[in-house]
Amino acid sequence: RTQTEDLLERRASVFTRGMSAGQPVFAAKAKNSEIWDVEGRRFIDFGGGIAVLNTGHRHPTVMKRVQEQLERYTHTCLMVTPYEPAVQVAEKLIEIAPISGPKKVMLVTTGAEAVENAIKIARAHTGRSDVVVFNGAFHGRTLLAMAMTGKVVPYKTKFGPFPGGVWRVPYPIEHKGISVEDTFESLKWLFKTDVDPKNVAAIVIEPVQGEGGFYIASPEFLKRLRALCDEHGILLVADEIQTGFGRTGKWFAMEHSGVEPDLITTAKSLAGGFPLAGIVGKADIMDAPEPGGLGGTYAGNPVACAAALGVFEAFEAEDLLDKSAKQGELILKRLKAIKRKKTGRPIGDIRGLGGMTAFELVTSHGGNEPDPAAAKALAAECLERGLMILTCGVYGETVRLLAPLTIQPKVLKEGLDILEAALLGT
Ligand code: PLP
Repeated sequence: RTQTEDLLERRASVFTRGMSAGQPVFAAKAKNSEIWDVEGRRFIDFGGGIAVLNTGHRHPTVMKRVQEQLERYTHTCLMVTPYEPAVQVAEKLIEIAPISGPKKVMLVTTGAEAVENAIKIARAHTGRSDVVVFNGAFHGRTLLAMAMTGKVVPYKTKFGPFPGGVWRVPYPIEHKGISVEDTFESLKWLFKTDVDPKNVAAIVIEPVQGEGGFYIASPEFLKRLRALCDEHGILLVADEIQTGFGRTGKWFAMEHSGVEPDLITTAKSLAGGFPLAGIVGKADIMDAPEPGGLGGTYAGNPVACAAALGVFEAFEAEDLLDKSAKQGELILKRLKAIKRKKTGRPIGDIRGLGGMTAFELVTSHGGNEPDPAAAKALAAECLERGLMILTCGVYGETVRLLAPLTIQPKVLKEGLDILEAALLGT
């Protein structure tokens, strides 16, 4: 009986079945793009937990900053006894956010909290209540963030009723036959029949849908969305929790379109594996809540802030934005070459923006019918061969590849070789 078998059994007996069991691998150690498990098996990590490790596992600069911080203090509460690392993180976020004019920041701990607080801020600023979101969106697991999330099974099952005032329209996905025009037609009807735009505080969009399947919003679409928001005094909130921090080759994915949101939510890769999230936005909007109206016991934890400062340093020292763009190009090229080989498991659409890349598995070559079972089987087979990948998409038909931007070229190649072999069945 292996240690893993024992741990799997113990895990199942103590954790609610509501929390996914995950892979049958228990972590023992990790470094950059590699994880070793309790059995001593080595895995190349193209998942980064759930899209968290743009700077890889235990980046030396991140570790150094964290260790220094551990020697000073680990908790004083930002709203009781403030500290410089949080101020520095906020200054950095203001520096990189693609929003013009004066900006301000709020720090929290998780992505869902960032989304919830962005809505609180939008409500405080506009005096309006409602929110428009997109089909396939994922915004987190708290009740409002869940209400804003599209996928019902398994995220929302048994948890309703959800807070009201959340309206949903299709996200344009050209290869699925949903055009930008279709989305605006839906918005037109929504505003005509269901909700007066004067009651809408914010439209929240992921510039590349993450959990929804790595669909990319076109610059044209985002420009029109911005114009619609301006027409009706609605705030545009970019949920960059998965797209941010260099994953798409820019600090934030909105930069690809040149469209400025009013607020940006960020989390995941911000602190290189430590729990930290934030909102950065126009100062007058961010200052709308009353003093003391926003906060959280662990908001902007100093160790997580120190880690985030290490992440910023690593990005600058190693030119990781550029590496992200190049990594994306390399992966897309390789995926297209693999697709041409007519793999045992047929590949459908391949897409990406910078280092945020994905491909769909379909039931036949040249077809468009999603094959979630094939994606699940592929992930299991890759794991067996030493590569961790994640699926996403409405049915789980899409495989996303999120190698650390710090990955060594030879390890990236090794990972892609494993993927190819698993797809070809060789
Ligand atoms: N928003 C987006 C776009 C996400 O991808 C996620 C997590 O996957 C969240 C929000 C929620 O973040 P968290 O799980 O940290 O609450």
